[in-house]
Amino acid sequence: MKKAIRRAIVVVVLVIAAAAIWGYRRATELEVAEVTKDVHVIYGFGGNVGVLSTDSGAVVVDTMSFRAQGTRILEAAERLAGGPVQALVNTHYHLDHTHGNPAFPSGTKIVATDRTLAYLKKVDANYWQGAAAGTLPNETFRNEHELKIADKTVRLIHPGRGHTDGDLVVLFVEDRVLHTGDLFFNGRYPNIDLEAGGSVREWAAAIDRVLELDFDQVIPGHGPVTDREGLRKFQTFMRQLSEVGDQAMKNGWTLEETEREAKLDADAGYQVISIPFVMRLDREFAVRRAWEEATGKVQRIELPEASQ
Ligand SMILES: [Zn+2]
Repeated sequence: MKKAIRRAIVVVVLVIAAAAIWGYRRATELEVAEVTKDVHVIYGFGGNVGVLSTDSGAVVVDTMSFRAQGTRILEAAERLAGGPVQALVNTHYHLDHTHGNPAFPSGTKIVATDRTLAYLKKVDANYWQGAAAGTLPNETFRNEHELKIADKTVRLIHPGRGHTDGDLVVLFVEDRVLHTGDLFFNGRYPNIDLEAGGSVREWAAAIDRVLELDFDQVIPGHGPVTDREGLRKFQTFMRQLSEVGDQAMKNGWTLEETEREAKLDADAGYQVISIPFVMRLDREFAVRRAWEEATGKVQRIELPEASQ
């Protein structure tokens, strides 16, 4: 009997170990795809990474969810560009776009908005302790910023509130490619971080500002690379969602009534993003966020004066 129990325990431990190894492999697997000769996208567990090749090395946009991914992103970027990483950009503060940062050499130029840096320090302080603190953004701005790196120009623009109130988009000028960060989820339901100043109501207007830029291809925060039309389709969904919020406020709907009455069709074919026990981004989530903003049921994260 005892022997049987021991054997059963061994089997359980082996299964758990195999699952952990499989999960780790899956979580750190990267897929690189060409966008233009000098721009690549890296897909993996977390936000899409953009890599620009310049004559003096790479510019990397976002670093996914784990330090181990950061290590692989750094290797891939240096291989693609044939030189060291000259600059790293964080589109916003969420961990699935920043937690790979600590794999980069300290002293790397790391660019973000003032508010992104403030959110990292305020809500994710535990992660950014010790050596990791050396890979927090060290070059920040409020509305616009430009990087000239060898033969390439990189424009960084904060187009207004949407996913948070600190997101930036990245324009690779010569290649006419835009990396939107999470201001654009392509074919997936978006996360809407109202607590960090995100806004269903202002999101479409922020995309209008983005559409004024010169680009042909778009790397979204999540989902496959697309074009201007793909971005416009997502904007239509955000307009419809904002309309749902307006209707809820005007008619005094409860959340249940809002879910029942919501008229949305631009999300046809959208995928649900689900991380068990953490979050589920689906239609219910999007409608609930629209209702919460419209009815004022949001507790905003307070940031220190300097980042206002
Ligand atoms: Zn995000």
